[in-house]
Amino acid sequence: MEINEISELKKLIIKYGAMLGEKNMTPATSGNISVRAGDNVLISASGTCLYDLSDEEIVLIDKDCNVIDGTKKASSEKNLHNAIYKLRPDFNAIVHCHSPYLSAFAVCHKPLSAPIISENVFYFGEIPVADYALPGSQKLVENTAKFFENHNAVLLANHGIVIAADSLKNAYYLMDTAETCAKIYINSLILGGIQELSQEDVEEIYRLRNSV
Ligand SMILES: [Zn+2]
Repeated sequence: MEINEISELKKLIIKYGAMLGEKNMTPATSGNISVRAGDNVLISASGTCLYDLSDEEIVLIDKDCNVIDGTKKASSEKNLHNAIYKLRPDFNAIVHCHSPYLSAFAVCHKPLSAPIISENVFYFGEIPVADYALPGSQKLVENTAKFFENHNAVLLANHGIVIAADSLKNAYYLMDTAETCAKIYINSLILGGIQELSQEDVEEIYRLRNSV
């Protein structure tokens, strides 16, 4: 991949990191972002603040997670990012956040699956919860990556969420959609009297999804 293409991808990571930060989805140095760059992956460096990233805080890693361009250490979740890319050639971007509403579901080990509004059914179906493992550990990779065979978003128990998509723009949109759904769900619980969509309604949304 050409140097100017890498530079464009870094600009995108900086842009969407800042946008996630504006929405309070990446407190302090939590979370990480990556994009596929040819056979390699560009990923935010360890201990960086996603809404205040500089060029030097994004490193290029190979498929074995070695840093091949950059002076910083790659994010501690690099193994998870690479495992998901290996599993799903159709994914080109991954965003991991400790966003407050989705993380509340992760703390309660509660999948975001209730069909409450059309967006969560259309874009995710269900967002399952992967068993807890220490952040950055191989166990976390084992517990989590497998869900991406059939999902584009997975909650990490007592930790946060990982979302993957064909582009960073779409991964950002999905993160915004999922966090908003989680917020609506929690607000609806406070109001009381949640009226879920019917099975018929859900199937109609799935049919629509499969037709586009
Ligand atoms: Zn994390």
